[in-house]
Amino acid sequence: AHLDRIGAVDGDLNAFLHVSEDEALSTARDVDQRRAAGEQLHALAGVPIAVKDVVVTKGMPTTAGSKILEGWVPPYDATLVEKLRAARLPILGKTNMDEFAMGSSTENSAFGPTRNPWDRDRIPGGSGGGSAAAVGAYEAPLAIGTDTGGSIRQPASVTGTVGVKPTYGSVSRYGLIAMASSLDQAGPCTRTVEDSALLHELIAGHDARDSTSLPEHVPGFAEAARRQDVKGLRVGVIEQLEGEGFAPEVRARFEESLAQLESAGAEIVRVSCPNFEYALGAYYLIMPSEASSNLAKFDGMRYGMRVVPEDHPTAESVMKASRGAGFGDEVKRRILLGTYALSAGYYDAYYGSAQKVRTLVQRDFSAAFEKVDVLASPTAPTVAFRLGEKTDDPLAMYMNDIATIPANLAGVPGLSLPSGLAEDGLPAGIQFLAPARADERLYRAGGALE
Ligand code: GLN
Repeated sequence: AHLDRIGAVDGDLNAFLHVSEDEALSTARDVDQRRAAGEQLHALAGVPIAVKDVVVTKGMPTTAGSKILEGWVPPYDATLVEKLRAARLPILGKTNMDEFAMGSSTENSAFGPTRNPWDRDRIPGGSGGGSAAAVGAYEAPLAIGTDTGGSIRQPASVTGTVGVKPTYGSVSRYGLIAMASSLDQAGPCTRTVEDSALLHELIAGHDARDSTSLPEHVPGFAEAARRQDVKGLRVGVIEQLEGEGFAPEVRARFEESLAQLESAGAEIVRVSCPNFEYALGAYYLIMPSEASSNLAKFDGMRYGMRVVPEDHPTAESVMKASRGAGFGDEVKRRILLGTYALSAGYYDAYYGSAQKVRTLVQRDFSAAFEKVDVLASPTAPTVAFRLGEKTDDPLAMYMNDIATIPANLAGVPGLSLPSGLAEDGLPAGIQFLAPARADERLYRAGGALE
């Protein structure tokens, strides 16, 4: 049914870069046979899933939304994909995204934008717009995204779906094509909080192949989602993330969600996180710095696209020509920003200062979590904007992540779920943030709003 749905709507939506029909069907049939034979399988066995194209999949093309990787077929699986395959979830295919996960609208994909299923003239968020649109359009019941600065939560917010960025280090990054290694984290995109919880439980866990992987696995997420119990839960509203810059109806839906939590027994308090104001600026130094280093391996020698200039085919000219032709504008912009921020003479002023701000943001979180159990804010400042509306204005595009970035800088988990319909009848989202390794609190709060 999902493959049929993809066939019917994806020509318009462009949520998928690759559909793996044969593999999905053979896994689904295998699950049927095993169930018929009485075999005990994982709760999600047989439930189809779409995977963001920044996650490597053995035998299945993986581009990260970039021309430079077009045609590359990875020889191995990311750890999280191994887990999906071991639990026998049919993989429907790979979803569209901003090139190397840089963007907030999926318009930076080298393979054309994805459209928002609620209004096809609008963006589905980014960078994981393909995963969110696929789930929102019923092309897939589950999807995997990655969130470096909001790329799971912001697309969830503008497509009326649920998206979770787990605690940094709780889901293995082995096999994720790295954008900014200290910020990247993979997580679920689904239609319900409980579905996210089930998928999160499946993909989390220690992995010796990821040096930042946390030692323990904290399960019990689905249990927390089902309980729907927020009695006594202290919810802190972040003062810096509810006022100016947030659309009136987005704020109204947020306030209504808070009222709903309050009537279910939660305690709502205001908290101040004064350094969040500087989070976006720090992110746009740290993220490009790490990306400029991570993307150095795309040199036209080892993977994908290779352009050989006829007149002067040296190693350096091949690298230059391949990178020049293979990378899009936003990727080039960030490589330039990152190499500049890291260069001798500027390192302390830019990268060094940004790391100090990062510490201050972490301290804001620590201080807040002494007073409350979870924090809350609107996920994104507005509903989905129109295709092309912000493509010429990188700063306006970056502002979309104002509410989501602090969690990445601090490594804390976040969950976005729909708060209702706002401007133009389009979905808005509310996000909850919890202390590191306390992801179950997100499900407790989110479950109570469904
Ligand atoms: N939109 C943000 C950026 O462009 C976040 C991206 C992400 O989380 N991958 O960097």
